Amino acid sequence: MQAASAGLATRYAFGQAPNITTAQLGDNLYLISGAGGNVIALTGSAGVVMVDGGLAQNADALAKAVAALPSSGPVRTLFNTHWHPEQTGSNEKLGKAGATIIAQENTRLWLQQNITWPWNGQKFQKLPKIAQPNKTFYDKGTLDSGIRYGYIPDAAHTDGDLYVYFPQQNVLAVGDAAYGQGWPVVDWWTGGWIGGIVGGLQRIQSVVTKDGNRDTKIIPAVGPALSLADITAQVDMYGTIYDRLNQMINKGRGPSEAVEAKPAKEYETKIGNADEFIRRSFESLWAYLSPDA
Ligand SMILES: [Zn+2]
Repeated sequence: MQAASAGLATRYAFGQAPNITTAQLGDNLYLISGAGGNVIALTGSAGVVMVDGGLAQNADALAKAVAALPSSGPVRTLFNTHWHPEQTGSNEKLGKAGATIIAQENTRLWLQQNITWPWNGQKFQKLPKIAQPNKTFYDKGTLDSGIRYGYIPDAAHTDGDLYVYFPQQNVLAVGDAAYGQGWPVVDWWTGGWIGGIVGGLQRIQSVVTKDGNRDTKIIPAVGPALSLADITAQVDMYGTIYDRLNQMINKGRGPSEAVEAKPAKEYETKIGNADEFIRRSFESLWAYLSPDA
């Protein structure tokens, strides 16, 4: 009896729809949360432009939320800010529907192969051809609607990070090149590293301030919107942590010693335990700086 009801509960939980919420960012521009990562949708007569697509298991629920937006229509353009599953879960659905899927070329290359993270064994299946980005770029580009996008070549999170800027609404989507809450995943297997986190944040600063603009709303893939001041504070914080880890690697210390030294201690009350982040960051220095690499 107990087992039966537990089974029912499990099935019910499994079938539950994700809790998808929508907030308006500006004219025709919406932030959709709850699909696995933040999604941005611009509606209008030319069709919907989306930045990232959540997890594949939430693709149908996300599509429904997008269809329900004011002035919505078919999704014509989808950006992948990088290859991770939280960003590329709508690729297959939208690719089959004929959408243009835009990504930096390195993102397409990662999506064409199976990937296993060495630190936890997590496996990622390559995407079928129809789900892969079908319009890639190396540096930057502009859509007919004036939306600008560009490569973040610092390897902040992966080696294929991109930003998308909506000039009319003054909103900048940056994927996982900045985090709105918690510590970043340092995916050094596909190029990300702690030095790149600092470099990527500085690049976001310069994208924001390029036209004398300072009040751009910056949307990360995780957590709430950020301001330029938030990004500046993050540059300081990650710069400090980077310096400390550099000193340790130069003294011949290993990742466990780096974790024990608590180089992010003063930030942990606000952001949470940094051990995992510090270990990955240290390993990322190995990947970038070690003469054996
Ligand atoms: Zn990611």
